[in-house]
Amino acid sequence: MTLQSIHSLPENITTTRPKRIIRNPDDMEAVMPEIHDRIDASRKAIAKGHPFAVAGEYLQNVIGMPADLNDPLLSVILPDESDIATDNDVGHLVSIENRRVTKSPAITQKYIGSVIMTVTSVCHQRCTHCFRKNVNDTISVLSDEAINQAFEDLDSIGGDNIFDIIMSGGEPLTVKPALIEKIALQRDQLNRKRGLRGVPPIHFSINTREPVVMPSTILNNPEMIEAIRHLNPLVISIQILHPREITHGFVDVMRIFRGMGIGLRTNHPILKGVNDDPNVLREMYTKLAEHGVFPKDLIHPIKSGIPREKCVTLERSMEIMRELVKRLPGTLLPRLQCCTPNLGKSFIDPFHMKKDGTFGYDMENGEIIGLRTKDGEKNQPASAM
Ligand code: SF4
Repeated sequence: MTLQSIHSLPENITTTRPKRIIRNPDDMEAVMPEIHDRIDASRKAIAKGHPFAVAGEYLQNVIGMPADLNDPLLSVILPDESDIATDNDVGHLVSIENRRVTKSPAITQKYIGSVIMTVTSVCHQRCTHCFRKNVNDTISVLSDEAINQAFEDLDSIGGDNIFDIIMSGGEPLTVKPALIEKIALQRDQLNRKRGLRGVPPIHFSINTREPVVMPSTILNNPEMIEAIRHLNPLVISIQILHPREITHGFVDVMRIFRGMGIGLRTNHPILKGVNDDPNVLREMYTKLAEHGVFPKDLIHPIKSGIPREKCVTLERSMEIMRELVKRLPGTLLPRLQCCTPNLGKSFIDPFHMKKDGTFGYDMENGEIIGLRTKDGEKNQPASAM
């Protein structure tokens, strides 16, 4: 921005740099007075207890300064009354008991062969659509004891059937690099023992939004980069909602991850008004592919803390997916899925037809006919729709 253009800014526009993390709407307003009304509309929800935090980098590089009052991405960081009235179904966060191979509080297991390791509840941002938004207020980071117990339990007959550990949070890349190093060391030891038993190695993957929210956490942190290199995840899945979230910082982080030979994917929810548009998604997937990031899952959110008014219908999600099929090569197509509370992921066929010949799924006796979980066992309860 030139000096001339700074001088010609309207009076209510500021050029002050935002704090690293903003946890108070007043601090956001101090750097973005031009969207006073939008911030003010959020104060009620925040005062009633809806979490609020936004990274200064996200404001500067994604929202942009000065901000646009009509920017749909503001709804991702600024809660409203509908957000406070919507709870996440905690079933998303619990294991299927008879499938669990470890009692470690660090591990959630819904699927055969795959577990989630929650390393922290901490996150630099509090997205309004976060499915953990009602549960991640207590700041906690995985203890050494919990890591030890998780790996002891995984070193068992049941554990030998696990081949994939998804590192998740909160935001897993907010932890100290030493914690990731410890996990990587434990994984190495476990894989040596598995090798002696003739069992294939266990791999890690990471689910993160940090390269979007605060890429400097990774870029300015050589120890974190080394810890990720040691963990050597097969895949890093990044939640990206919109093409504008592909910033210079994001691209630099992808370059580092690609240099380590890590597969890069994106999985993200469909949010009404933000990315429920096949053109927006096509632009995003095409741009991401230029940086080696390929789509994985396009999530139709169900009971995951997102208010109904911010979700599209199942039929609309299917329609968006059918449009993407027409506009993108197969390599750039995500799988349409929903996360069934208690049961896990179900894949949605965008061309599935109801009995009446229209696209969609019929419901009978509390089940959606034809929709199965990832492990193919059960249908989606109708109440979840
Ligand atoms: S960055 Fe991820 S964990 Fe953090 S609030 Fe957003 S969706 Fe939730």
